[in-house]
Amino acid sequence: MKKKNKRPRVRVGVHTSIAGGISRSIERAAHLDCNTIQIFSHSPRQWKKTRIPAAEVNHFAELRQKYDISPVFVHASYLINLASLSSVVVKKSMDLLSYEMENADMIGAEYVVLHTGSARGEDEKKAREKAAMALKRSINKKGRASIILENTAGQRGDITSSIHALADIMDICNNDRIAGICIDTCHAFASGYDIAAGEGLNTLVNEIKKYMGIDKLKLIHLNDSKKPLESGVDRHEHIGRGSIGIEGFRNILSDRSITNVPIILETPKDDEDDDRKNLETVFALLNKILN
Ligand SMILES: [Zn+2]
Ligand SMILES: [Zn+2]
Repeated sequence: MKKKNKRPRVRVGVHTSIAGGISRSIERAAHLDCNTIQIFSHSPRQWKKTRIPAAEVNHFAELRQKYDISPVFVHASYLINLASLSSVVVKKSMDLLSYEMENADMIGAEYVVLHTGSARGEDEKKAREKAAMALKRSINKKGRASIILENTAGQRGDITSSIHALADIMDICNNDRIAGICIDTCHAFASGYDIAAGEGLNTLVNEIKKYMGIDKLKLIHLNDSKKPLESGVDRHEHIGRGSIGIEGFRNILSDRSITNVPIILETPKDDEDDDRKNLETVFALLNKILN
């Protein structure tokens, strides 16, 4: 039998299902040998709010401690669009984001990962200012969980596909509860950062250092890309099987700025075994690089 790859000294997890109750997600993560996790706290494609039962909250906390799963990232709903041209949608988005943050506090999650929004047809800078103001107003002073802003793939109307753009939003908000950023490798590649190569990865890391400081990098979404460099299309692929490729991931994971922060996979789940296979690929790369 092939020897299983040992989990390296890096925080690695996958976006995990909460089907059957949020505490089930921790069991699933532990079963996959993960030590960090990302979840949705409710259905991400519905405006409807549901309460998490108290018994589930307690069980979630117990299991987290038992299996050493930390930090916990809550990915905010895909419906949120703080830059929408519709003031009704902005209002509903602010409300839903507040709910996401309350949920995160209730389950003791450290971070809420947010796609700020997009505004097709609007001036990008103006849209960003508007979204930043809405974001600022959504943050309840008494909460604990921090927000991290995710880079996007550069689709039309996109306002967060560059590091400079993310820094811009953080500067406008000027709020401690916005802890920093999440870099999604698929989105970075699709938006034009050639992170599969040394030079392109350096460009990205240097921009983070220049515009906000490397301590603001809080999370890596490690995904391969189905589409080519600068495609502007957000389609995730299994690690090593897309346009970034296995050598690309070797390059990415060789950078200490990357392996110093938690890594979450959001790779396709076509098959029951897909998460395990993708994690094995990442563990194998990390073990070679770090040992
Ligand atoms: Zn992502
Ligand atoms: Zn994506």
